[in-house]
Amino acid sequence: MKCVICKTGEVTKSPVQVEVKVGYDHLLTTVEAERCVDCGEAYYSTETLQQLDRLRDDFARKQITPRSVGTVYQIPLEGVHMSTRFSRDVFAAEPFVV
Ligand SMILES: [Zn+2]
Repeated sequence: MKCVICKTGEVTKSPVQVEVKVGYDHLLTTVEAERCVDCGEAYYSTETLQQLDRLRDDFARKQITPRSVGTVYQIPLEGVHMSTRFSRDVFAAEPFVV
């Protein structure tokens, strides 16, 4: 099968790593799917999508407790050191108050 995105690549069976998101939690898993050898676009069967839906539900309801492989950190906006260009753009977007 040819890829419908790039229209040139051949789509072949391949294990694909998938990220299932629940709130701020990200669950990584690998499923058997098909992937374009040129652009990397992944194609999933209906069964695989249903399987991922069930996995998301189980994860959301804490029915599975996978091993943690990392932590998501966040810095609030006021703590971010912005480049001059970025901060100028941010200030330019602010409404001017008199
Ligand atoms: Zn492609």
